[in-house]
Order: sequence, then structure tokens, then C-alpha cells
Amino acid sequence: MFLGLDYIISSILWLTLVGIFVFAFRKKIFKRFYQDESIDQFIEKLKHYLKKTYPKISFNYSIIDATKDEPNSDTRKYTIISDIFNQYTALSIPKNKLPTLTPKELQWNEYVFNCEPNKQKLPPDWGKRKNALLTRDDHQCLRCSKRLTISSTEIYMLRSLQEGGKYYLENLIPVCKDCKKILEKDSLEKTVFKIKEDLEDIALSS
Ligand SMILES: [Zn+2]
Repeated sequence: MFLGLDYIISSILWLTLVGIFVFAFRKKIFKRFYQDESIDQFIEKLKHYLKKTYPKISFNYSIIDATKDEPNSDTRKYTIISDIFNQYTALSIPKNKLPTLTPKELQWNEYVFNCEPNKQKLPPDWGKRKNALLTRDDHQCLRCSKRLTISSTEIYMLRSLQEGGKYYLENLIPVCKDCKKILEKDSLEKTVFKIKEDLEDIALSS
């Protein structure tokens, strides 16, 4: 049988349309398959992000198994995020990381003088102190091990000014912005945390 050109062209056209339709609605048509893939992708990206951003923290991932029967993948993703975030807020500063006395040779002129609090104002050599802390603690947040740059560094006083704390380097630790909020006991519900935002972005993009 000889097929006319019209027939061949219209067949190709129909097949193309069906192909486009299936491709466009693939996530709905193969829902189950895509949901699993999305969760797997999310878990993989989440673990990668946490390992890279907080290299010294061993997160407990048992929540992944514990939620495996949850049919709604969004609910599952947000349950996992919430569990990781709770682990993050519960961290404490590792005892072996706490600073010891600063040797004399690492101090500078006026160092001791400027350690005394002066009307709640920061010491004039605050920038120098910040640099010294970053060098001392290997450019890492002392609480969560996140990599720090000068602009992303916050300084936390182990003993606050109210408690009689001074600006000696051994009373200061460099921390990331999230840890500063947690250490200063900001309301966890009302505060924006970078870790939460990043994990939610990963959930949205997987
Ligand atoms: Zn931190």
C-alpha cells in the first residue's frame, strides 16, 4: 500500500503533538515516578549542602527514613528541614574549641588598654580584633564550622558586658550570623535564618 504524503505529514504532526503533550505533562502523568525522583534529588542536594557548609557537624539523618511513608513529598521535605534546623539550633559550642589566653606576642600596643569597655562603645581596634579572631579560629564559625569572611563574621562575647565581660580575645569568638542570633536567644520563630532559607530553596528547586 502506498501512503500519501499528506498522510505521512499529518501522522508526523500528530505524533509530535502527542510527544509535546506527554513531555509537558510528564510530571502529572508519571506522578509517582517524579515524586520519588524529586525527594531523592532533594535529599542528595540537602546532604551535599550541609556537608559543604558545616563540614564539622555530623547531622543525624534518621528523619529521612522515619518519614519514608509520607505520601506528600512537600510535607516530607519540610519535616526533614524542620528536623535539621532543630538539630542546628541545639548545637553547643564545642568545649575543646573555647579560646585560651592570648599570648603576649599576639597582642599589640594598647591591646590591654582597649580591652576595657568604654561606655558601651566598641574598642577602636575592633577590626584588628576581628582579624585576629579569624586567624586564631581558622576563618570558621566557632559554633557551627561555617566558613567566615570579614563581612560575614559576627563576634560573640562569651561573658557579656552586663556580666562584667571585657574585650580580651579569649572572651570573644567569631560566629556566623545564624549562630549569633541563636546565641543571643532571638525568637527562633520570628527570626530569618540563612540555613532555613537555603534548605527551603533546595526543596523548591528539587
Ligand atoms: Zn555558625
